[in-house]
Amino acid sequence: MRADRRRFLKDVAGAAGLVFVGCGAAAQTPRPASRTHRPVVVKGRRIKTVDVHAHCAVPKANELLRRAPASPTGAIGPLVLEGEALTARLAAMDAQGVDVAVLSINPTWYEAERDLAAQVIAIQNEAMASFCAAHADRFAAFATVALQFPDLAAEQLERGMKTMGFRGAMIGGSVAGQELADPRFHPFWAKAESLGAVVFIHPQASTSTELNARLKGNGMLGNVIGNPLETTIALSHLIFEGTLDRFPGLKICAAHGGGYLPSYMSRSDHGCVTFPAQCTAGMPKLTPTAYLKRLYYDSIVFTPEALRHLVAEVGADRVVMGTDYPYPWVDAPVDHVLDTPGLSDADREAILGGTAATLLKLT
Ligand SMILES: [Zn+2]
Repeated sequence: MRADRRRFLKDVAGAAGLVFVGCGAAAQTPRPASRTHRPVVVKGRRIKTVDVHAHCAVPKANELLRRAPASPTGAIGPLVLEGEALTARLAAMDAQGVDVAVLSINPTWYEAERDLAAQVIAIQNEAMASFCAAHADRFAAFATVALQFPDLAAEQLERGMKTMGFRGAMIGGSVAGQELADPRFHPFWAKAESLGAVVFIHPQASTSTELNARLKGNGMLGNVIGNPLETTIALSHLIFEGTLDRFPGLKICAAHGGGYLPSYMSRSDHGCVTFPAQCTAGMPKLTPTAYLKRLYYDSIVFTPEALRHLVAEVGADRVVMGTDYPYPWVDAPVDHVLDTPGLSDADREAILGGTAATLLKLT
């Protein structure tokens, strides 16, 4: 380890604290339903499992956001779980068969002004970098970036990857109502491509008043429908607005199995063909379906049949295990992969951790 990095880590160690949180629902203790505990063995061979979808938060950063008049992100409060002990977190990972958790923080700062956003990002990234360096055998992390300021986000990503040990960044499915495919975000995508960063897209609550109104009521539709819909819209724009053509080297991983897109992508192939007059900006270079095979997806699709179908659409080498910890959406992530029909042992090893380890350079 370089001396400047050791010094940096010493300076920030313990400065901000880290707690583990979940996304979009009241936190509960994960159900101990997994039959496959750590270590995970496939065909007699010990394999390293990686969870790419694991939440945390930095209380000091959240306090800063809540106090700031420029930030209307009061909704972050319920997401913060105070007092989760590291030993409990490690025990939960062991019970779920997870060797390495790749931590990320839901971006609740997209409406903050520049100075505040910069402070929040610095606090969060320093806390996560310090924590991961101290527990490198069990944790890695995606950096946070202030994507509402694409030039700043590009700088934060570069610093995070070059000096703080991050593997990429987590971003929302939109940025304060703006699509990720908007040209204003090109500087960020260009930097991510040049750095080889993995960009994990995790949906946030929709900012569309009309859509939010329709998703109210029983059934937490804002989450169960709104989240996968947000991811579906984000990926579709990246395809049809030409972002993936402009930056073909991007490494994008979509949460929750890519939302609805891999389940109904063939309609996207037929839209501009059937009604070319409605695709005035032109077609992407490839058929829309082909872009799905260039992206990565977590395995949070709930049933073996859903995971089988996702693999059939995008390829086994494009799916990586996720848990959404600490929320118990998934209680047995390893079993989910092992129980999916049609996978070879090599496929299972790749999904459980091999692909993520290579992608995120977890050695
Ligand atoms: Zn999540």
